[in-house]
Amino acid sequence: MQITKNAVALIHYTLKDDAGEVIDKSQEGTPMPYIHGHGNLIPGLESELEGKALGDKLSVRIEPKDAYGDRNEEIVQDVPRAQLPEDVDIEPGMQFQAQNDGGMHVVTVVGVEEDQVRLDGNHPLAGVTLNFEVEIAEVREASSEELEHGHVHGPGGHQH
Ligand code: ZN
Repeated sequence: MQITKNAVALIHYTLKDDAGEVIDKSQEGTPMPYIHGHGNLIPGLESELEGKALGDKLSVRIEPKDAYGDRNEEIVQDVPRAQLPEDVDIEPGMQFQAQNDGGMHVVTVVGVEEDQVRLDGNHPLAGVTLNFEVEIAEVREASSEELEHGHVHGPGGHQH
């Protein structure tokens, strides 16, 4: 069976940036399950997986526009230290949930000065070209319950 809309696929993957640094990978022996065609993966990877089958291996390079988008420097902002929790040591690399017009999103601390903190609202992988090594470990039909829930049940997926 091939990977098409509503198929459940389990994939082993390693994700590297252009410098060859590993950003993310599936757990050893536990491929990541997802339901194809529901926007659960970044668009560039999902379209590369379309039509693939058990055992297929692929190396794909995905530009930011098909991944987490380009960086937007307008959402890098300096805020007064006093606006952040007082009992936390603020350090570069820390992430916070922040509320804005579009709902909750994650901001990353990129700079700390005495009374100012620089926060970056971009996704940490915005502007990054992604290099995936993928191996297809399993392809099967989704159950109607999985389609209803929008996630995969069983090993590596939801247990309930
Ligand atoms: Zn469920």
